Amino acid sequence: MYEQKQLTIFSFFGPPGAGKGTLAERCRKELGFETLSTGDLCRKHVMLNTELGKKVAAQMKEGTLVADEYIIAMVKGYLLEKTDFSKPIILDGFPRTARQAQLFVEVLRHNNITLKFRVVRFDIPHDDIIKRLSNRLVCLDKDCQAIYSRISLPPQREGICDKCNSMLGQRSDDAIDVIRERLAIYPTYEQELLTFYNSINQPVDVLTINAKSAVKVFELFETLLKHSFSQPDVA
Ligand code: AMP
Repeated sequence: MYEQKQLTIFSFFGPPGAGKGTLAERCRKELGFETLSTGDLCRKHVMLNTELGKKVAAQMKEGTLVADEYIIAMVKGYLLEKTDFSKPIILDGFPRTARQAQLFVEVLRHNNITLKFRVVRFDIPHDDIIKRLSNRLVCLDKDCQAIYSRISLPPQREGICDKCNSMLGQRSDDAIDVIRERLAIYPTYEQELLTFYNSINQPVDVLTINAKSAVKVFELFETLLKHSFSQPDVA
């Protein structure tokens, strides 16, 4: 029988270190949203040394983007396995290129998934990013990958994850030279993605991060949920 699935998806995109993962986690805990981070998925494949992990490891280490086809395959696999469509999903760090956005829309169309699609762009100055990333700590457990900050969100016990008691450490791509590479490539992809969204009349909401705390960013996002997100759907 013909079945149409209706899903609400938020895409969080913005430079590395803008706080996408932290906001996504808060939305999961406080609003019951589901989250999918393509960065977490890639890291998990690398840690497990899967075939995909072997293919993407070098790109991740250098701070460049993983090939669109691999990323799309991961997201497609996740969406097609879904049976519960009641909770909104946050895609953290996806789509990141215009081609990913294009392929994503095609996957949805081919699988009878209709969509409320909300794009949230995180806006933050580069100087703040460098400060944030060099102070970021992550849980080294592949299934947890919780995010902390030495400055604004320290763990209760130094070096230990509050959630799962595993060790915390620095992501290898948070080394300063890799951060610079990640920031250098970001504007081109961002521009292409924004041009694509513009071409399909997809609205993009902006979260201005600056030096705001995670709590303030969450409040700002809740305000967006109440106001601009109540506009008619385009996608
Ligand atoms: P993130 O955790 O979002 O900062 O992503 C870490 C790394 O994973 C990126 O620098 C890329 O190498 C890879 N990655 C994650 N998401 C994507 C994506 N949507 N497209 C391409 N590469 C990605």
